[in-house]
Amino acid sequence: MVMPKIMQYLAAPQRIMQGLEITEKYIQEQGVTLIANPGAMYNKDIQNVKNYVLGDIDTPFRSLFIPSALYMLEHFEISELLNETEALLSWGSGKVQYLPKQIKLFTDGAMYSQNMVLRDGYIDGHKGTWLMEEKIFEDVFKIYWDAGYQIHIHQNGDAGLDRILDIVDKNNLRNPREDHRTTIVHFGYSAIDQIDRIKQLGLIVSANPYYVTALSDLYSKVGVGYERSQEMVRLGDVARANIPLSLHSDMPMAPASPLALMHAAVNRVNYANKVAGPNQRISALTALMGVTLNAAYTINLEEDYGSISVGKYANFTVLSDSPLEVDPLEIKDIQVKGTIVEGKVFRAP
Ligand SMILES: [Zn+2]
Repeated sequence: MVMPKIMQYLAAPQRIMQGLEITEKYIQEQGVTLIANPGAMYNKDIQNVKNYVLGDIDTPFRSLFIPSALYMLEHFEISELLNETEALLSWGSGKVQYLPKQIKLFTDGAMYSQNMVLRDGYIDGHKGTWLMEEKIFEDVFKIYWDAGYQIHIHQNGDAGLDRILDIVDKNNLRNPREDHRTTIVHFGYSAIDQIDRIKQLGLIVSANPYYVTALSDLYSKVGVGYERSQEMVRLGDVARANIPLSLHSDMPMAPASPLALMHAAVNRVNYANKVAGPNQRISALTALMGVTLNAAYTINLEEDYGSISVGKYANFTVLSDSPLEVDPLEIKDIQVKGTIVEGKVFRAP
């Protein structure tokens, strides 16, 4: 592979490469066999560095990217989006690939900066932000919907979720689609009345359960208030409604550890050592599905990955104990012994 040419603003390309190598090792040690990154930056130079470090055959996992419509709009007119998205399929190399017919859109702002848009606002009076202006969001959604794309939508507040539900409703009436799998990404705050709509409209949830661990105690005192903070990432309701559910890290927004994510979703024990919203805990089996088969389903790859069966890649992780059998409070302490990925053995150090 040819060493990538890196533009000058990448002040320290060697350090970026070192950083990626450290990341690669870290991800392997967590027992991960495949990663997906919805919302990839639109930057060919950075992509080349990723291809260089993560693309070779000895990389212990495959890296799959989904473009971000938000970043692409910094470079292109709306009318060019679809063609330019298709062109991205040639950007990967080796074990780094772009997923066909998938795109990431954005509604409201981030959880850690309290920029999510909440139906009832914040207790200290500050306001959240929209990452895509409503008209642009609607125009862009329509383009990808009509082109048959699976649309992943970043959301953190319940008002952000209303925007997603409304737009799917509207477009599905105009141009009905089977199995569209529009994905709610992050799933910070939602209201109980939205669960039914998620189910009826055929959406799926890709949640970051670590928000509960890191923020539910803090946010009960700052900005959000007790009641809403305890119900953040309401995965119990999602599971009871039989909505397909996967767990993600959005690293560095959570440890990129499937076991840590399972632990967060199953226990909901926060930094104050309290259980936040006990009714929103999910079973260890639902959490395990959330980092395996349902994770594959979320990126439309359940035919190839996510479980061991004939015709799929026999990728798997060897653990010291079964997360379905240990005390739920010990899931995070299970050791990763190694992984088997596409026929190769990768031992944990
Ligand atoms: Zn996001």
